[in-house]
Amino acid sequence: MKDREIAAAIEKEAKRQKDHIELIASENYVSDEVREAVGSILTNKYAEGYPGKRYYGGCVYVDEVEEIARQRAMKLFHAEHANVQPHSGSQANMGVYMAVLEPGDTVLGMDLAAGGHLTHGHPLNFSGSIYRFVSYGVRKEDEMIDYEEVRTVALQEKPKLIVAGASAYSRIIDFQKFRAIADEVGAYLMVDMAHIAGLVAAGLHPSPIPYADFVTTTTHKTLRGTRGGMILCKKEYASLIDKKVFPGMQGGPLMHVIAGKAVCLYEAMQPSFIAYQNQVLANMQALCDVLKQEGFRLVSGGSDNHVVLVDVKSSIGMSGKEAEKLLDEVSITCNKNSIPFDEEKPFTTSGIRLGSAAMTTRGLKENEFMQIGKWIASLLKDPSVPNKQRIKQEVLTLTAKYPIAPLL
Ligand code: PLP
Repeated sequence: MKDREIAAAIEKEAKRQKDHIELIASENYVSDEVREAVGSILTNKYAEGYPGKRYYGGCVYVDEVEEIARQRAMKLFHAEHANVQPHSGSQANMGVYMAVLEPGDTVLGMDLAAGGHLTHGHPLNFSGSIYRFVSYGVRKEDEMIDYEEVRTVALQEKPKLIVAGASAYSRIIDFQKFRAIADEVGAYLMVDMAHIAGLVAAGLHPSPIPYADFVTTTTHKTLRGTRGGMILCKKEYASLIDKKVFPGMQGGPLMHVIAGKAVCLYEAMQPSFIAYQNQVLANMQALCDVLKQEGFRLVSGGSDNHVVLVDVKSSIGMSGKEAEKLLDEVSITCNKNSIPFDEEKPFTTSGIRLGSAAMTTRGLKENEFMQIGKWIASLLKDPSVPNKQRIKQEVLTLTAKYPIAPLL
């Protein structure tokens, strides 16, 4: 690359990705094939519209790409309709909100402090400023979704739309229960399965498709594809959703990214993907077991999926912010995260969020995840310089053994 400034930054980021243990629950490593598609000449093409109905000439081949992506999405998730154009998960959510809501309408979503996403009603996000979001949380006793509370709030507030799905919730979500509540109050049901899409694709988390009117997702978390979004819905809402995505909300689709989504969906249909997702779950269990043995309190007591929240504050009196920083110093990447009923500010937090999807892609199994749990516990309990140096050295030895082959 002639642009040395950007090339140098990419090289440094490549080294960081290679050296670090990546535990950010929303990240993953894509295959070379996905990167090939996203880095392809499809980025040159404008294609406003949809396959067969474009506002630009020369779309015959990108039509093929988009139609293949759509068909694969529908087949993989058994959905009646797929729109693969949303540029991100946030835009997928915006597309659904625009399709069924008017400004000021009431929406019931998961409280952000309990694990919901920004686009589920944060006051500084478009969702919270355009619509009137009310929220449900988790039960104090077991930190799991309280479906009785969801029902009570729904009956009181009569939302037009109920949003299920989360960014930091480690338990199975019961979509059937959400459907029953939505039916009782006459609301639409949208499931944002961004985090668990890969598990759903592999049949390892119940699918929201039979229950939800709309399912949104990102394609880059457990689904292990390019950064992007997608909307799946019932046939009756197909043309409404399509119109709201384009021309309602976006201009030209990113055809190179749609090609990347198509490749990722192909990969998610292979038997090896099910094996991968099973390993993601097994690795998370191994990590939880060790952290519990080491005396850490896990939010809700553990995990059914690829993510866990560790309450570092009540376990060892450390904030999430401090824990994240210390872990970064030994090349373990994670993010600080509020825990339910957190007394710390969102920028400080009492917890950290750990995920198993990315390092499972690199080939790590239960033993290595147990080792990671031991390093985390040892470092947070004893952040002395010699302990930090020892752990960092051991982390680098492990990551060197499991390269992001053949990417870097
Ligand atoms: N929905 C959920 C549940 C998420 O966790 C995220 C991202 O973290 C999004 C939506 C938004 O995705 P994006 O960052 O692509 O806009």
